[in-house]
Amino acid sequence: MFQKIRYRLLIFNLLVFSLVLSGFAIAVRVVFVRNLKQQLTDRLTVLGQSAAANAEIDDDRLKVETSFLNQALAGGTQTLEWFDRQGRLIQQYGNAAPRSPLNPQATVEVQPQNPAIQSVTLPILGTETQELIGYVRVSQRLDELQETVLQLDVGLAVGVVIAIVLSGTGSVWLSQQAMQPIVASFERLRQFTADASHELRSPLMAISSNVEVALKYAEGMRSEDREVMGAIASATEQMTRLTEDLLLLARTDRAAPMALAPVNLSELLHQLVQLYQPQAQSQQMTLEAIIEPNLILQGDEWGLKRTFTNLLQNALRYTPTGGQVKLEARRLAQQVQVTVTDTGIGIAPEHLERIFERFWRADQSRRYDQEGAGLGLAIVQAIVHSHRGSIKVNSQPGEGSCFTVKLPLHHS
Ligand code: ADP
Repeated sequence: MFQKIRYRLLIFNLLVFSLVLSGFAIAVRVVFVRNLKQQLTDRLTVLGQSAAANAEIDDDRLKVETSFLNQALAGGTQTLEWFDRQGRLIQQYGNAAPRSPLNPQATVEVQPQNPAIQSVTLPILGTETQELIGYVRVSQRLDELQETVLQLDVGLAVGVVIAIVLSGTGSVWLSQQAMQPIVASFERLRQFTADASHELRSPLMAISSNVEVALKYAEGMRSEDREVMGAIASATEQMTRLTEDLLLLARTDRAAPMALAPVNLSELLHQLVQLYQPQAQSQQMTLEAIIEPNLILQGDEWGLKRTFTNLLQNALRYTPTGGQVKLEARRLAQQVQVTVTDTGIGIAPEHLERIFERFWRADQSRRYDQEGAGLGLAIVQAIVHSHRGSIKVNSQPGEGSCFTVKLPLHHS
């Protein structure tokens, strides 16, 4: 049970951490890439401005002075193009120009592939007149920038993975620490229940033996007193059962290995069905059993008897007169499957989760009546789990319920 909570804690922890970290990595990448692109645009604009300053109109033709370029252009990845007012290419320097024609409206353009190029287009204005005499387009291949971004991506991904692994290790330790007080308080509660029920045994025993003695010599008693004594006897019996159940639950909670021995489940179930046949008949119900022979498993006979007694009792208790109860047991690969099916009142879907809780009853008003205190299924579940088995329930209100117990088979 605690293991499950620990795993859940661990997984949630990791999930939240991964989300936060990925968000952070994405934010870093977005800001970094935007900055890089802005820097590139600024560089190209400066270059474009000096290229524009080195062009002039001569005889109504655009003349370009290219001597400044030798120092200005960066290692063959940049290209300059001059266009006249009509957009005709006049001169080009460098060979990585974008394929698209000049677009005077777009200042910054990106050609995404083959090769990836970013370009900046600027107008050229006449020195004196300030009128438009042409355009200059400065382009740069993006290979370098893409390489930088790729390195950043790899760095971030590796960083995120390492951080998640480290935090995972930390979370294992943390969840262990977090669970310790819970486990300790659970253990205290269990010990308290065990001690309290154990301590209640002797006084209850004293009451019941005294009442027994008193009832043995009941002739001299007034009839009211006899009734009172009878009520005390039955309440004592009920309390004794309750304390025994609590003690049993406290013991199975300790998860100490039980003394297991080979048990013939087929015989055990046959005997139980026989035991409950008269009760079924008196309630005008049919109790049917289909039991595969020789189902042997490694278990605690008393516990298994208790398990199926509780399930049968519930089936008979929560099924109205004329109903049917069926017990089936068969082998399934490495397991034995026992189902107890009834045609009774059923269990509401919202209650299905809760029926195995201690002291939980669908009809809470009937607390502590003769029939039980709501511990029956809690005990069944505890015993089944201590046999490394599982229990499931299917139920339709008004139609009936089906409890399925699976227990591992004994290999001889
Ligand atoms: P108890 O029978 O003592 O009340 P259990 O733990 O055995 O306690 O059962 C808990 C509750 O689950 C019952 O009070 C009842 O509401 C419901 N329940 C159990 N078995 C059945 C069944 N076969 N059909 C309908 N309801 C059931």
